[in-house]
Amino acid sequence: MDETFAALPPRDHGLDACFLGPYGENAHLLEKLVVEFLRDHVYWRRNFHPDDPPAIATTTAYQPDYLAVESRIRRELHQLSAQLKKSVPFHSPRYIGHMASDLLLPGLAAQMLALPYNPNNVTDEVAPVTIEMELKVGLQLARMLGFSHDPTQADCAFGHLTSGGTVANYQALRLALAMKAFPVALRAAGVPELALPDDDWQAFNLSGEAVIDLLGQWQKWLAQLDATARAQWRERVRTQRLEERGLVDFFAAHPSLRLPHVLAPITAHYSWSKGMKLLGLGRAQLDLIPTRGMRLDVDALNDRLQHLLRERIPVLMAVAVLGSTEYGTIDPVDAVLDARQACRAQGMDFAVHVDAAWGGYLTTIFRKPDGGFRARDEVAAEFIYFPSPPIHRAFAALADTDSVTVDPHKLGYLPFGSGAFVCRDHRAMALLAERADYVFHGDSPDDYFAHYRGLGQFIPEGSKPGAAAAGVYVAHRVLPLDHSQFGRLPRATVRATEIFYERALRFAEEQTEQLTVRVPFEPDSNLVCLAINPPGNPSLARANAFMQRLYAAMRADPQQPLQTREFFGSVTTLRPELVGADETRRIHASLGLEPDLEGEPLMVLRHTLMNPYLLDQENGISYIERYFEFLARCGAQLARC
Ligand SMILES: *Cc1c(COP(=O)(O)O)cnc(C)c1O
Repeated sequence: MDETFAALPPRDHGLDACFLGPYGENAHLLEKLVVEFLRDHVYWRRNFHPDDPPAIATTTAYQPDYLAVESRIRRELHQLSAQLKKSVPFHSPRYIGHMASDLLLPGLAAQMLALPYNPNNVTDEVAPVTIEMELKVGLQLARMLGFSHDPTQADCAFGHLTSGGTVANYQALRLALAMKAFPVALRAAGVPELALPDDDWQAFNLSGEAVIDLLGQWQKWLAQLDATARAQWRERVRTQRLEERGLVDFFAAHPSLRLPHVLAPITAHYSWSKGMKLLGLGRAQLDLIPTRGMRLDVDALNDRLQHLLRERIPVLMAVAVLGSTEYGTIDPVDAVLDARQACRAQGMDFAVHVDAAWGGYLTTIFRKPDGGFRARDEVAAEFIYFPSPPIHRAFAALADTDSVTVDPHKLGYLPFGSGAFVCRDHRAMALLAERADYVFHGDSPDDYFAHYRGLGQFIPEGSKPGAAAAGVYVAHRVLPLDHSQFGRLPRATVRATEIFYERALRFAEEQTEQLTVRVPFEPDSNLVCLAINPPGNPSLARANAFMQRLYAAMRADPQQPLQTREFFGSVTTLRPELVGADETRRIHASLGLEPDLEGEPLMVLRHTLMNPYLLDQENGISYIERYFEFLARCGAQLARC
């Protein structure tokens, strides 16, 4: 264990100021900030017409009914506070379950500071400050991903916050559909003088760049018409648009177009199924592509694309997952882009979206402060295994995708209620605007920010918290999204994951007498699964019963005090349709199980390693080491039952 610490770089004290800490070590700092800025808020209230007398008289606080309500407030808050003590201790390095950890203190403080101002990021009329912050967060994330992020450039990216990755994924679907359908509407309206495709199939299969180009031509063409003609043409196109006609009518009017499919790996989050339904498509249009080692199988993707092409079924979007929710595995984003390139040559085109809700912030490890992308060797020098060449290629390819989902409330260490959607070229957003033909004329950042100040008309949500935007913005300002700043955080946790992985392999050797332990597939990000079976047990059902008992000792139980739990973990299953039959047989055999593809899927422990204090250098404590001691103890005990 001492070797573990000797091999680590010295403790990063900069990061130590960034969290409240497992022990509340920075309580003083947070309290100082909260009190200081709460007072500041009060002064702000008082300085708005200071001559107005206090509406609540100072003597009111002594009235019996005032006192009665005050005591009710206190009682209820005490109750709330007491109940919340049963919460899941995300802050602790003993919590390695779901995708949550301690919060970035600057983000938390900024959000608390902003809450009493209660800005509503639906429009700048009710959020004069925080809308611009949200748009800047979009540009910060765009820069992290490698998109154009200069608001004076025509092709600047656009990003906004959502309640989470689910809504961001839905926004990606909505935008992709709007972009595909628009050229079809232009054709149907019979707009003259534009270079329109010859048929609906071609119109529905233009590249994103071509759609944006066509949109620009259309806007320019409109602008040179007189007001009456402009209004007429606008109306003619409006009535042909999918957004006007609805899916049923639109596709009935274009019988050569069948409902488009969305292709995603079988490991994709269930928000994709929700998104399809919201869009008015069904699960039948969601093609789940098999994986290899829990990563999208490119051959299977290409086969599926060729099948759809033969059937003349259009493809709306292909999704690559950058850090799957259950396994943390990273799809070959570059290969998905190559697959699209191959389809383009055959007249089929579609959007490529990356669901990086989990892994998005890992990109900071690769991003240089000057915006460049780091070479693999340079990054690899900081790790034991990370990043393998395919992983490095996947991150490098992000810049060439159409849109990306990132969750600040996962690896961004910010409070829940912050997801983000980022698209590569903001001009496409005009197609989502609730007010039609929202034309963009800008060539200065002010124009860009002014253009999107009515944010509510471009996004799925309406009213939404400006305080959340302030939190993300400030966190990104304190820790800019490159390897020298924010990147220190994922670097530390990916390194901890590597140590966890190596420890797991040694643990498997040590335990051969007591437990059969396997790491079913190598981790790609800071998420590691472990399969465990009592020795000599051939039955999958018994292995799962054992895992159920083990998990019961590692999950929150409202009936039990938190302190009875040594560690918190989570579980997932290895479904054969996900893992593949051969892989499933291999994993079952490696655990000494009789291969069983029909029964319930194998349960495995799932560890999300994102706490910055897993390796406590200050005290020479490795919570990873302690976890494996716990697992040995608990496992041996439960294997005997
Ligand atoms: C978490 C997650 C989502 C959903 O995000 P929410 O913030 O929970 O709505 C989508 N995709 C992936 C890959 C995720 O990990």
